[in-house]
Amino acid sequence: MSNKTFTMIKPEAVAEGNSGAIIKLIEEAGFRIVAMKKTLLSAARAGQFYAVHKERPFYESLCKYMSSGPIIAIILEKGNAVADFRKLIGATDPSKAEDGTIRKLFAKSIEQNAVHGSDSDDNAALEGSFFFSQTEMY
Ligand code: UDP
Ligand code: MG
Repeated sequence: MSNKTFTMIKPEAVAEGNSGAIIKLIEEAGFRIVAMKKTLLSAARAGQFYAVHKERPFYESLCKYMSSGPIIAIILEKGNAVADFRKLIGATDPSKAEDGTIRKLFAKSIEQNAVHGSDSDDNAALEGSFFFSQTEMY
């Protein structure tokens, strides 16, 4: 089991000034920041990132939303990182997310749900390398 995961603070959370509060919760939960950058995805690049969902009805809207403003991409490190981070962010749909989770606290809707979290060690590695080169990871 790997000790890294990948997250993005999504456009609405960045725009509303919630990135500091979100990063504070992440660090308080014991995650260490390995790499971090603020960047703007084009719709095409958002589409590449979410290619696994391209047949889903929400895909087009998701790509538009994820390219609507800057995101903050972060690689995180902690024991059991992938599972522990998914627990910290809560369910995709914030109305189903547990109290105290990042999505419960900050998400607006099932689409605008504040943060991404990798769903497996393999995807954590792929998603991290989508944004960062090896020499940017400390
Ligand atoms: N999403 C959406 N509608 C849905 C399901 C997902 O808009 O019915 C969006 C939402 O932003 C979600 C992303 O697509 O975070 C990726 O979906 P996934 O099922 O992978 O959820 P996650 O892994 O982010 O919890
Ligand atoms: Mg997912």
